[in-house]
Amino acid sequence: MEVVCENCAREDDELVLVRRVYVTPESWDTPGSSRPQPDPELWCFSCRSQYPHEPADEETG
Ligand SMILES: [Zn+2]
Repeated sequence: MEVVCENCAREDDELVLVRRVYVTPESWDTPGSSRPQPDPELWCFSCRSQYPHEPADEETG
């Protein structure tokens, strides 16, 4: 089964389920903020090292 990163579409053996976090940089009229997305995605190591994210809890049971 071919598995690809859902962020960059690259094949990788070590994909991890994460939630992307949208980071809004601080600017002159708004404070910075970060908003995790509700839908988890499978990310490769490269994406995990480059983009903000948080671990997605896998539901068990
Ligand atoms: Zn990737």
